[in-house]
Amino acid sequence: GAPVDLPGAVALLDAASTVTVLCHVQPDADTLGSGLALGLALERRGVAVQVAFAAPAAVPESMRSLPGGHLVTPVESVRREVDLVVSVDCGTVGRLGTLRDRLAGATRTLVIDHHVSNTRFGTDNLIDPEAEATAVVLTDLFDEWGVAVDADLAHCLYAGLVTDTGSFRWGRPASHRIAERLLATGIDGAAITRELLDTHPFGWLPMLSSVLASATLVPDAVHGRGLVYAFVRRADSAHLGSEEVESVIDIVRTTAEAEVAAVFKEVGHETWTVSLRSKTAVDVAAAATDLGGGGHAFAAGYTAHGTPDSVVAALRGVLE
Ligand code: 5GP
Ligand code: MN
Ligand code: MN
Repeated sequence: GAPVDLPGAVALLDAASTVTVLCHVQPDADTLGSGLALGLALERRGVAVQVAFAAPAAVPESMRSLPGGHLVTPVESVRREVDLVVSVDCGTVGRLGTLRDRLAGATRTLVIDHHVSNTRFGTDNLIDPEAEATAVVLTDLFDEWGVAVDADLAHCLYAGLVTDTGSFRWGRPASHRIAERLLATGIDGAAITRELLDTHPFGWLPMLSSVLASATLVPDAVHGRGLVYAFVRRADSAHLGSEEVESVIDIVRTTAEAEVAAVFKEVGHETWTVSLRSKTAVDVAAAATDLGGGGHAFAAGYTAHGTPDSVVAALRGVLE
């Protein structure tokens, strides 16, 4: 589809009286925070709006206190005919899962995203690869639209910003200015961060123990630099939430000897969702795109099929 600028996106939103906002599967706080912020802004303007993601069925525990949860709609109830479908934080149409079929029932489709690998699958595409989070694109959109960012919207946007900046480990100076502005609405940034990123059930500890015990370091795998990887088997994680599994990569990637880190998360028989991270020298978005996924230069992902040995071999093949 065609690119759209901020005024163009506002015009599309203003013209719609029924809107569906779609988040990516296995939602994180950037897709859900952005989706709920947009949903709340539309609801306040009298728009009939639904916010949805294809899987899992319920909002993950760590995101249940995000404002706007009442807008979240089960897949089977998501309207088929609307004026506008907006996807937030989705680099490819595949990230919509089974909800991708809702694009066909919309007059226009607006893609709002920050992934460098975005395939521009909307009729109108608002993509800012400089933005640390889709929540940052939403902040710009709200400014253009004249939407006042109150504490509820700020809570949703801060959730996306703190998550996608790795708790402000990376990002432009501007991301700190946006954080300041959001915090000035009175939200409790420390509590939001703790709930999203620093809260795990006790069962997380034995899961980590089992997963990390089998982590493997391959020195020199990536142009003379190291690759570290680990597998999260369903037997290790079946009783845990997605937050617990998603946290593993943030531990594995701290390995000093490795430039690239990978976590293979078993989701079905010989089926894995894979998280990739790099430090500074390797573009893992390119590697993930080669394997059918996508992402950012230093954080990317894809779905792999095969035995543990074969999925590692395939990854090493694209990293060479
Ligand atoms: P994570 O490891 O946190 O799941 O994903 C890291 C980054 O890669 C995120 O920006 C995410 O959007 C992207 N990503 C993860 N899995 C996939 C995938 O299967 N397809 C695409 N296109 N992007 C992915
Ligand atoms: Mn995301
Ligand atoms: Mn994001």
